[in-house]
Amino acid sequence: MKLFGAMEIKENELFIGGVSSTELVSRFGSPLYVMDESFLIDTCKNYYRDFKCLENNNRVAYAGKAFLTKAMCRLIYEQGLYLDVVSGGELYTAYKAGFPLDKVYFHGNNKSVSEVELGVKLGVGVFVVDNLDEMKRLNEIAKKYNRKQNIYLRLTPGIEAHTHEYIKTGQIDSKFGFAPVGETIMDAVKLALDCENINLRGLHCHIGSQIFEIQPYEDAVEVMLGFIKSIKEETGHTIPELDLGGGFGIHYTDEDKPKETRDYCTSILNKVDEVCEKLNIERPILTIEPGRSIVGNAGTTLYTIGAIKEIEGVRTYVSVDGGMTDNIRPALYGAKYEMAIANKITDKCNARVAIAGKCCESGDIFVNDICIQKPDIGDILAVFSTGAYGFSMSSNYNKNPKAAVVFVKDGLARVVSKRQSYEELLALEV
Ligand SMILES: *Cc1c(COP(=O)(O)O)cnc(C)c1O
Repeated sequence: MKLFGAMEIKENELFIGGVSSTELVSRFGSPLYVMDESFLIDTCKNYYRDFKCLENNNRVAYAGKAFLTKAMCRLIYEQGLYLDVVSGGELYTAYKAGFPLDKVYFHGNNKSVSEVELGVKLGVGVFVVDNLDEMKRLNEIAKKYNRKQNIYLRLTPGIEAHTHEYIKTGQIDSKFGFAPVGETIMDAVKLALDCENINLRGLHCHIGSQIFEIQPYEDAVEVMLGFIKSIKEETGHTIPELDLGGGFGIHYTDEDKPKETRDYCTSILNKVDEVCEKLNIERPILTIEPGRSIVGNAGTTLYTIGAIKEIEGVRTYVSVDGGMTDNIRPALYGAKYEMAIANKITDKCNARVAIAGKCCESGDIFVNDICIQKPDIGDILAVFSTGAYGFSMSSNYNKNPKAAVVFVKDGLARVVSKRQSYEELLALEV
């Protein structure tokens, strides 16, 4: 078990941000998402420094889809970061948080007319345009509002990475972005240059998620700077900005061996310098878009154990009061997590059990076979590194209300998203 940030163990109990697990559950109930605020801040600071945001004008845009609340928007703003949104709802969250919208990148492969309109109206900094239909739609709407909208073009660079493996292909099959086959990229560039209300500022790519290697990013740098060079040669247009996406891997279990933030950043920056010199082009302003690697390890989910069922000679099921509604990743794609019983955390792990969620779905299992401290009814189960794609993917399946989110720091806990009540659960129904 790996302790992150401001986690510590005192008298056989897990403390996060100076607050004990039992205190958190007794004050706020369970399941409970607990975010270590000082760890979040430190991670943002590291990215800001390591990606040379100050010296080189580079940008770190936090990918809000990993975990977005108004409090999170304010936190990343205070750390000088930009923000990626992928929907009108995420954009509205940033707006209501008072996040400066010129520091927002608007992503998505099917932004609706009303989403595009909202983005233009609110003054989103960059639209990351995914396809020609969007470009035309955006140009019309920008015209209506008398704006010249900055855009990046999303390209598929022919590099696809997932965790340990990555592939380079000439042929691209993705719902995202313009592919380097046929003339689609140059068509997009030319259309952008012809659109009166569009200003083509940059290129974008995003090569995958939970990536541990550095090489795919270096390859992406090479390919993307090559595009910038050929666009210059073919149209005379200089592309001053380049966005290399996110996807930096994190530790969930001991099987995962991520690099440090610094290693990803430094390698990317060095590679950009090297390739720019080779191609004889000016270094663009760079953006990266980490999501998971900013929030993942800062989050812990606390559950209460409510039932323990031993099927003799088969398996013991330990059931908790949440499950696929607050964290769908194990059920959705077999994601693995470390977990422990928070109120007896230094006890020996000699109970071999399965941890089950409470949903009426046999796939609602966090883990089939794990050795943990001997569980008792009423114990608190901590599942680690749940900060990314947990709360943001949560649902009301079985009409389970959404769990609360608290930020903890220096011994204090504050609610940033309340637990949903039954009344609120029915608020939309007529
Ligand atoms: C999902 C996504 C990210 C963030 O990915 P992480 O794996 O969470 O770092 C960044 N950029 C784009 C365009 C994305 O779709």
